[in-house]
Amino acid sequence: MASQTLTVLLVEDNPLYARLIQRLLGRSEHPAFDVVAVGTLAKAVERLTLGAVDVVLLDLMLPDSSALDTFFRIRAHAAETPIIVQTALDDVTLASRAVEGGAQDYLLKDRINGASLLRSIHYAVERARARGAEWHSAMFHLAQQQFLKAAYIAGLDDNIRQRLLFPERSQIAALPFKRDQGNQVETVFAYRVQHVLTMGPTKGGIRYHPDVDLGEVAALAMWMTWKCALTNLPYGGAKGGVRVDPTTLSPAELERLTRRYTSEFIGIIGPDKDVPAPDMGTDAQVMAWIMDTYSQHVGYSVPSVVTGKPIVLGGSLGRNEATGRGLVYLIEHACRSLGFALNGATAVVQGFGNVGSHAATFLAESGAKVIAVSDVATALYNPQGLPIDKLRDYVREHRLLADCPYGEAISNRELLELECDVLAPCALQNQITAENAGKLKCRILAEGANGPTTLEADEILKERGVVLLPDILANAGGVVVSYFEWVQGLQNLMWPLEEINERMRNILTDAMTRTQRRAEADKLDMRTAAMIEALNRVGSANLLRGLFP
Ligand code: GLU
Repeated sequence: MASQTLTVLLVEDNPLYARLIQRLLGRSEHPAFDVVAVGTLAKAVERLTLGAVDVVLLDLMLPDSSALDTFFRIRAHAAETPIIVQTALDDVTLASRAVEGGAQDYLLKDRINGASLLRSIHYAVERARARGAEWHSAMFHLAQQQFLKAAYIAGLDDNIRQRLLFPERSQIAALPFKRDQGNQVETVFAYRVQHVLTMGPTKGGIRYHPDVDLGEVAALAMWMTWKCALTNLPYGGAKGGVRVDPTTLSPAELERLTRRYTSEFIGIIGPDKDVPAPDMGTDAQVMAWIMDTYSQHVGYSVPSVVTGKPIVLGGSLGRNEATGRGLVYLIEHACRSLGFALNGATAVVQGFGNVGSHAATFLAESGAKVIAVSDVATALYNPQGLPIDKLRDYVREHRLLADCPYGEAISNRELLELECDVLAPCALQNQITAENAGKLKCRILAEGANGPTTLEADEILKERGVVLLPDILANAGGVVVSYFEWVQGLQNLMWPLEEINERMRNILTDAMTRTQRRAEADKLDMRTAAMIEALNRVGSANLLRGLFP
């Protein structure tokens, strides 16, 4: 942005403060600023409709509008323009609500200086640009807004906040693989994103799904960072993905795709660098192919390059079902905190893949009545409780729940709104939104999926007293047992299943207890409390290591 002039719309009714900002911006040459100052919302809207504003500096309290209303009305007229809220020290809550609503940053009026103002504008403009291009993704936006909210409340170091907003490394490949028919070659987009390289190797799954894009993989990598930090694992977060529908590929095509993926990213993965694992659309077999391709490349067997491998190749007992098992451990813990037993409680599980089907099994084993489950196309309801084992047999045979005879078919929307003690979304992101959060009738919301709930929905659930087990805590069992697999692999040791489950339970319960304590002490929702636990750890590691060079 060296030779550029940026147009700043300064919306501020205090003439003294407006002059101060104009003076501070007037000193800058690279970039130069064209400041348009207005003192009312009406004037601001009038200017915005003319277009060509690069950034809005907004005072929320104006003569003709106040608080969040000001923010939302400005945003309605400038959906793509970054907005930086200016606030007094005594009204940080209001500013953080504006950030939740999509503001790029906020500045404390009492602490304003030229450097902080320029940095804030620079990053706001850069971020808006990145978002408009390759990072554009509702999921990445959600991950960033969750992080910003927690970072503000925790008072995270400003430099570290800017570093953590985007992943440190992202690699994209246009990846070719041969189809079975004739000599047809398919080219698909593939990603590996490493969010934080400060904590040790990076860790995270690989997702094969038709909606995968850089923004989604970046969001998932960011959540991996918080998951690992919250559970005190020695990893930073990573994630990989291929934009492909794996259900349309034959096993041979899947194998060729996977081997090519491995060879494209071979320079940045490795047992000490970045350790992939299964995620949506991938499984132990995919991990075996990755391990084999990597091992062929270096010339000897390297089981620890991936986790979630088949047991005979050095996989860990309990890894396959770990995410679902961990989720149910935490649900049990939450039920106890609320004063009721999981045994006899009612549960609804959205999603019947690896996480959902195992969660449903363990819920049923703990004595809960699982009254509804769903997969991509079908939701089944039975108020007497569904026979989970039979459903799993059915899915093993038919792949999907369609036409399964053990319950009444209902819609996905009806499933989410069923009255129950525990609702576990274990499918895709963006399921619980401002639209349906007010209609949920569960006491505990346990996020087996990553990113199932929007920020607006978080607020509604908090007001309604629903106990939230946020994704970075609730589904961390998978990566915890991945860590055990990695440790066992490096030591060439096998731990018994009981030891694995017990260690996992201890780690998860400890993370939950710390989160609950922080939530209660600082009157925070569970997601923000968990995020703060996590980012304090990453933040202090960053500060201790310092910045090279
Ligand atoms: N893909 C899983 C997750 O989202 C597991 C990652 C891992 O085990 O490394 O947590």
